[in-house]
Amino acid sequence: MALWKSVGNGTLEGISRVADLDAAKLTITLSKTLKPIPPRHTWTFGTIMTDHMVIAEFDPEIGWSSPEIKPRDSLKIDPASSCIQYGTTVFEGMKAYIDPNGKPRLFRPDMNMARFARSAERMALPPFNTDQVLALIKQLIIVDHRWIPQFTDYSLYIRPTLMGTRLGLGVAASDHATLCIFLSPTGPYFPSDESSKVKAKPISVLAESNVVRAWPGGTGGHKVALNYSAGFLPLRTAQKEGYEQILWLLGEERRVTEAGAMNVFVVVGRDDEGVDLFTPPLDGTILPGVTRDSVLDLAHAYMAGETSLPGTLPLIHARERIFTVADLQRWSAEGKLLEAFGAGTAVIIASIGKIGFHDQGELKNIVLPAHENGIGPIADAFRTRILDIQEGKEEWKIWSVPVFEA
Ligand SMILES: *Cc1c(COP(=O)(O)O)cnc(C)c1O
Repeated sequence: MALWKSVGNGTLEGISRVADLDAAKLTITLSKTLKPIPPRHTWTFGTIMTDHMVIAEFDPEIGWSSPEIKPRDSLKIDPASSCIQYGTTVFEGMKAYIDPNGKPRLFRPDMNMARFARSAERMALPPFNTDQVLALIKQLIIVDHRWIPQFTDYSLYIRPTLMGTRLGLGVAASDHATLCIFLSPTGPYFPSDESSKVKAKPISVLAESNVVRAWPGGTGGHKVALNYSAGFLPLRTAQKEGYEQILWLLGEERRVTEAGAMNVFVVVGRDDEGVDLFTPPLDGTILPGVTRDSVLDLAHAYMAGETSLPGTLPLIHARERIFTVADLQRWSAEGKLLEAFGAGTAVIIASIGKIGFHDQGELKNIVLPAHENGIGPIADAFRTRILDIQEGKEEWKIWSVPVFEA
């Protein structure tokens, strides 16, 4: 058995010390031929890959191998590997943006790295130094920088992935692992008609009462591959009924948890002319999204008078709070349900226009107020503000991080 354990940021410390992940040992082998970059209207999310990838392997006797950047290629994985048999795969989703000076930037990568380490730990995968993973991501972006789109709302999606590669069918943690990082250029997640005023078509969601995405004590608070596959069948059913995503619920009381693979927010009118902005609390069933945290942080800063938000907005009282389908029905009936939206790296903010739910066997809909440009003023304000910070057009705290200095 391996004699290692993780400390702090994932640095390895053990009785017999094994090698830590070390970006200084990186070797780079460039591809002899570079792919042509396809026209951006063909960039369906996550379908086009860049030229190179990062690979590093963990062996319990040796530790982390010297990381490599090499031409992107398929992996050779034994069918008895842990990730194939038991789903020991965890991942991250983040993006690189080009700032007005043409320099690549990342958005709050420290949050992604901390979450990546937590996900790996939850799957009992070997630890790694998160600072070194971030250094490798930056190197890969530099190598493949010609793929970072120069247009607003386009970016380079980054998918760090850690797979358990222990060979054997024994039901046990994987003490071997492969780290793979690859990149995919991406445009608006829900593309809209460029000729119209509509910025983004609102999505419809179907509240799912029979299948749960996450439960107390489960893995819902981690980005682990097996959280997603279990949602594909109900998603297919929802799509047959004409909805684009699932609104995930929890428990008899039908608590709202997430929308598809996004965190969910609702805007509810108050008696004092302000609005409440609610999102469910992080109780282990909710994925701690970077976008979710950014919306909450900006909302609190706005209320404290520390920052402004685009547009003319009411006072926004943001709070983490449990709410149910019955709450949505009641707020809607009272005319107080003003906006609903999903939040995540891929979309930033996706406006929700319709919420289907089953009521004693009958399918009913909560229809949200329509907006001329397809998105409500509050959702739009956060979307615009976050995108401006991501693209380095506006500075806020140290959220936007240059990939290299000067
Ligand atoms: C990744 C993800 C989110 C959004 O997280 P971000 O860090 O904002 O991208 C929300 N819900 C689920 C289930 C996710 O996997």
